Amino acid sequence: MSMENVSSLKLMFFGAPGAGKGTQAEIAAKRYAIPTISTGAILREAVAAKTELGRLAAGYMESGALVPDDVIVGIVRDRLAKDDCKAGFILDGFPRTLAQAEAFDKTGIGLSLVIDIEVEDERIIERMSGRRVCSACGETYHTVYNPSVDNVHCTKCGAELICRRDDDPEVVKKRLSTYHSETEPLRAYYEGKGLLRVVHGQEKLEDTTALTVGVIEDYLAGRK
Ligand code: AMP
Repeated sequence: MSMENVSSLKLMFFGAPGAGKGTQAEIAAKRYAIPTISTGAILREAVAAKTELGRLAAGYMESGALVPDDVIVGIVRDRLAKDDCKAGFILDGFPRTLAQAEAFDKTGIGLSLVIDIEVEDERIIERMSGRRVCSACGETYHTVYNPSVDNVHCTKCGAELICRRDDDPEVVKKRLSTYHSETEPLRAYYEGKGLLRVVHGQEKLEDTTALTVGVIEDYLAGRK
């Protein structure tokens, strides 16, 4: 992995599953013309394509557990080595454990900011029950907060929307408990490094976006 290449805006979106970090990451990626690296999306693609990685990851994902650190670190390392990451990138859903954060630190790539999107568990459980994903292109929607054209088909490509298997309420509870025990300690880790910025997730998607963009713009203004 080439360290000096990745020198621009290097963001990580942090937060519980369903807090809206993936959606905010996509919006910021478009705005700043940098790619989003979502380990969850990469793993879901591998599961769908039934690759070796997919077969390994499926069981962990369906039960709401984390995929082993060495597998994840390998995926991210390979992805960040690609040319499109030279101008910067957004990490969505990685690192998720202290071991992953330390492995990432060892690469020397570094991060500009860690944006922590905070939403209470009760609201997350309510939100995830309305989450829908396009069966073809992977675009995500919410039946109430971010509906597609008719709540049945994807606005972008017209394919049918489906519920993610791991959005089942029992699996969501397990994913939240995994988040609190394994991922939340990273907040203190990045706070200690002076990288953490907290954004309180709002009812309306665009209000959360405004807060998120504000944090990034503050950073960019300070860097000038
Ligand atoms: P996400 O879409 O980010 O919620 O990820 C879905 C699932 O993929 C998680 O519940 C984990 O099983 C797995 N996963 C995604 N990212 C990671 C990661 N950084 N470390 C371990 N497991 C991951």
